[in-house]
Amino acid sequence: MRFLTMDELVKESGISRFTLMPALQRGDLHGFQRVKRGTWRVDRPCFDAWMAGEKCEHQTAKKGKAA
Ligand SMILES: [Zn+2]
Repeated sequence: MRFLTMDELVKESGISRFTLMPALQRGDLHGFQRVKRGTWRVDRPCFDAWMAGEKCEHQTAKKGKAA
């Protein structure tokens, strides 16, 4: 599995990390940190979904309704 780092997200999306970071912290953009306060990593489909204004499959699953 290939994950995007914050630097790559900024480069690909053209969105600043000051917008991306709060979205990650709120959980709007599904990502994870291997260690607390460590580097954020985002799965490609999760990023694509967020860019499209949609929920990724993980966020949808969390709501309790299987696709
Ligand atoms: Zn996800």
